[in-house]
Amino acid sequence: MIRTRFAPSPTGYLHVGGARTALFSWAYARKHGGKFILRVEDTDLERSTQQSVQAILDGMQWLGLDCDEGPFYQMQRVERYQAVAEQLVNEGKAYRCYASKEELDAMREAQRARGEKPRYDGRWRDSLQKPPAGIKPVIRFKNPLDGEVTWNDEVKGPITISNNELDDLVILRGDGVPTYNFGVVIDDLDMNITHVIRGDDHVNNTPRQINIYKALGAALPKFGHVPMILGHDGERLSKRHGAVGVMQYRDEGFLPEALVNYLARLGWSHGDDEKFSREQLIEWFDLAHISKSPARFDPDKLLWLNQQYLREADMHRLAELVQPFLAADGCSTAGGPALYAVIDLLRPRASSLRELADAAVFFYRPLAPSAALRSQYYTAEVHAALADLHTRLHAIVWNRAAINDVVKAVVGAHALKMPKLAMPLRVMVTGSTQTPSIDATLELIGKETVLARMSAELKRFPA
Ligand code: GLU
Repeated sequence: MIRTRFAPSPTGYLHVGGARTALFSWAYARKHGGKFILRVEDTDLERSTQQSVQAILDGMQWLGLDCDEGPFYQMQRVERYQAVAEQLVNEGKAYRCYASKEELDAMREAQRARGEKPRYDGRWRDSLQKPPAGIKPVIRFKNPLDGEVTWNDEVKGPITISNNELDDLVILRGDGVPTYNFGVVIDDLDMNITHVIRGDDHVNNTPRQINIYKALGAALPKFGHVPMILGHDGERLSKRHGAVGVMQYRDEGFLPEALVNYLARLGWSHGDDEKFSREQLIEWFDLAHISKSPARFDPDKLLWLNQQYLREADMHRLAELVQPFLAADGCSTAGGPALYAVIDLLRPRASSLRELADAAVFFYRPLAPSAALRSQYYTAEVHAALADLHTRLHAIVWNRAAINDVVKAVVGAHALKMPKLAMPLRVMVTGSTQTPSIDATLELIGKETVLARMSAELKRFPA
């Protein structure tokens, strides 16, 4: 049975890089009918927050990355790590190190001065020295002194690291809290993880972890390290490039299915397919097609995908999603046209929920045209035609076809070209020149409102 996990450290929001790693792990488990486990690596007591745990859970829920087991919290498992660390000490595979911070700083300083790479020199490794009083020791792992570590990375291919590059890492701190490299091994073992899929910022940790697996006599999971995400300028994706938090995309009006699709395509491919459903992703996903080189985040492509998903989404669902944006703008839809119908009319031109909300406002409250628009379109030449239109609209049964007939009749009667009439009409009723087809727009806004707005604006025409 395939078992994958996502193991975030709760030190901030869920960023797109983490979300993509989670998505890949999730998709791999789903594809193979396996299990996806969520584990919160909260051992960095200073930087971990409950708020961040919540942000991660919210982000995963929004993206639909449901886990089968967990969330597990490492801080609830410290006794387990302590027991295993103790066991390793008893087996002579780990040892207590009493070196103080000052002593270790001095050691590194001396190494640097000699032109060496700073590393722990093993001073307590097989030491018979009497432990100094008053120091809480850390436990260090006895990394093998020679030989090398090799694994066949599911994404990067074979990787070999020489053991003399690795020093004896701390596995348990003085306060009994495990370090990342130790906690992760014990958990991946206890949780029977078969595939460790994670960001390639951890690739240097993997040989250290493999040595711990070996010391425990445990079989290795498979490892796959996913290349990082870059911004458009080739630098590592960061706040400088715009939104990096998953929930920020929700707040900017993206649909979760668009972000999921985009993140899946970011560094993984299935032929030339750009748009695919969650089901297709599950069916197609594999580790072999994860790119070995970093992916570049392209906000325009994400926006394009969002637009595609907006066009096909259920309009009642969209109405529910757009409502909070309107509410935040202080725009009430009560007494106005049905929001789903407004959205259906607007969506061919919108690429986000935010844009839909902005474009929907004039259906619910008048937006005063700018002075520039009024002076451009409110001309003496069309005044009579618009007054005539107002009268004729008053007389009809309000529907799209009848509105269209009347507009055409007025254009004919006054020997105008269609835009000559339609543009000022748009400006009068919507405050803008950018609207969907005018007959459909007027129909939805409603007879009474259209006539009232026209009357008010007709007064502003030059005599
Ligand atoms: N807590 C680590 C991180 O957030 C997890 C790395 C791993 O997946 O092993 O980077």
